[in-house]
Amino acid sequence: MRFDIMTLFPEMVMNGLETSIIGRAVKNKILEIEAWNIRDYAFNKHSSVDDYPYGGGAGMLMQAEPVYQTYLAIQEKAALPEGKRPRVIYLSPQGKPFNQKMAEDFAKEDELVLLCGHYEGIDERVLELIVTDYVSIGDFVLTGGELPAMAIIDTVSRLVPGVLNNDDSAEIESFHDDLLEYPQYTRPVEFMGKKVPDVLLSGHHKNIEAWRLEQSISRTKERRPDLYAKYEANHPVVEKKKRKR
Ligand code: SAM
Repeated sequence: MRFDIMTLFPEMVMNGLETSIIGRAVKNKILEIEAWNIRDYAFNKHSSVDDYPYGGGAGMLMQAEPVYQTYLAIQEKAALPEGKRPRVIYLSPQGKPFNQKMAEDFAKEDELVLLCGHYEGIDERVLELIVTDYVSIGDFVLTGGELPAMAIIDTVSRLVPGVLNNDDSAEIESFHDDLLEYPQYTRPVEFMGKKVPDVLLSGHHKNIEAWRLEQSISRTKERRPDLYAKYEANHPVVEKKKRKR
């Protein structure tokens, strides 16, 4: 899978993404990640990419032209079949809230383009021309789209076959089946007087599985009642039986 990131701070995203599991996947050529510096496509002699907003108001806006030229360069390199446009995600607090389901959808693509805004954002006209998806990472405002882009690339990459090895499998994790993951423990058996639950040392796989499901359910109920409501709606029979006990 290939990611192209349109940004004013390419070194920020590349430094972050060239480490750990994602960095390993890039080295192994399972992922391709390229950051495109929007400033390289500035059309004036000072290489400026921002200007005052029409109508007044605080702050500066990124201009349409350099963003559009960067997009054209990416499109040319991608050499997509005639008429096919790349999927372009604009990171914005005004976008749809990002979640695991959205990541699963993005992971089906061969290529994603991520557009990072800065200052007060980007001239609306270029957004209308190139953006296919508006995505937010939460109801708060950051200084730029770089951290959100990194969060999305990291989440989507973990779902690309071959990025995780068996030791870091993504099969059953938080948000799988609308539940949070159960608590986990590693050696030693006892730490600061706290023992690993006996069932996990029993070697009895069915009991371990049942214990983990129970823990996932109670943890989700306590920490994310909104998510638990979804789980309950999708598992009415299991829940009714549990209540009878
Ligand atoms: N004036 C914009 C508004 O009120 O919607 C906010 C601009 S913000 C200071 C600058 C850039 O940071 C945005 O263009 C966007 O790319 C990014 N950004 C900020 N918060 C974000 C969030 N919660 N999710 C995704 N991107 C965000």
